[in-house]
Amino acid sequence: MATVRDQLVRHIAAEEPRCHNKVSIVGCGSVGMACALGVLTKGLADELALVDMDGDKLQGELMDLQHGSAFIRMPHVVCSTDYKVTAHSKIVVITAGARQEKGESRLNLVQRNVTIFKLVIASILKHSPRCKLIVVSNPVDILTYVAWKLSAFPRNRVIGSGCNLDTARFRFLMGQRLGIHADSCHGWVLGEHGDSSVPVWSGVNVAGVPLKELNSALGTSHDPERWGDVHKDVVASAYQIIKMKGYTSWAIGLSVVDLIETILKNLRRTHPVSTIIKGLYGVNEEVFLSLPCVLGENGITDIIMIKLTPEEEAQMRKSAETLWEIQKELKL
Ligand code: NAD
Repeated sequence: MATVRDQLVRHIAAEEPRCHNKVSIVGCGSVGMACALGVLTKGLADELALVDMDGDKLQGELMDLQHGSAFIRMPHVVCSTDYKVTAHSKIVVITAGARQEKGESRLNLVQRNVTIFKLVIASILKHSPRCKLIVVSNPVDILTYVAWKLSAFPRNRVIGSGCNLDTARFRFLMGQRLGIHADSCHGWVLGEHGDSSVPVWSGVNVAGVPLKELNSALGTSHDPERWGDVHKDVVASAYQIIKMKGYTSWAIGLSVVDLIETILKNLRRTHPVSTIIKGLYGVNEEVFLSLPCVLGENGITDIIMIKLTPEEEAQMRKSAETLWEIQKELKL
């Protein structure tokens, strides 16, 4: 007897199973799933692959996402603990990582993440040797260096999410002060992601009007308006959110999805992402720090040489030295 499907559907031709814009996410915790949801709601990929070492969690996340199919143009979503599902990815986002144990040193945490990255990077390479890597796991600048070393990819294909989130937070908080949408508030937070990030006050502007021209003390300790607090709040916000909800996810997810969109659509927009900085701003070590980078289908094609003050350059060099002190001890 003919099935309902047989009676309903007249088959004409076979579909070529080929993906043009495949994105994979390795590590499907809070951050990985925020990235996944963003990729799906923006309709960026024609296949999304999820990998985690926890197979049950993966299946649960997959089913939960698929049940939203009626509300978005859901592409093919696959998941597995086996990296085979990531084959032929254009972009692989890495959010896998160990969490810091109580009393554990930063170096020890990094070394544990290096061990995880050895397996993760080798597995990604095996199935997508031409992909672009976006590293999100912390400490992101060091792990981007680790991913670059382990993959032996050219520098343009290894991108750290770096200060992309710090800058987004800065623009939001600036907008809150001015009553203007974050999208129209311009400013760049560069250097090391997190506590030592550097806000470039000279470039902070709205509609091309530099705020520094309106208040020459902007960002300094003698500024009566205390604009420096905007950056202090950027640094404090991750700690505040983690204290209240246990982790951060939505903003980092959205900021990573913005990078994915630029790369997949070859938009050549500028983003504050972590790239190798050796030879620039007096840095001589092989370290990754955030600078404004032009992103396109080949990853990072250009760096915008933003003018820094001697103090800002000194902060960059200090971060570079701190990172190198840790990196040179790593067993890769
Ligand atoms: P999480 O613990 O919720 O998720 C991590 C996931 O990685 C887990 O699902 C775990 O099973 C998986 N995992 C661990 N080892 C693995 C392996 N070997 N292979 C595959 N999967 C593995 O953590 P989270 O809150 O999602 O954060 C993820 C990372 O992102 C952390 O390192 C965090 O510090 C970082 N983060 C970075 C930024 C940034 O701006 N760069 C912002 C927020 C969080």
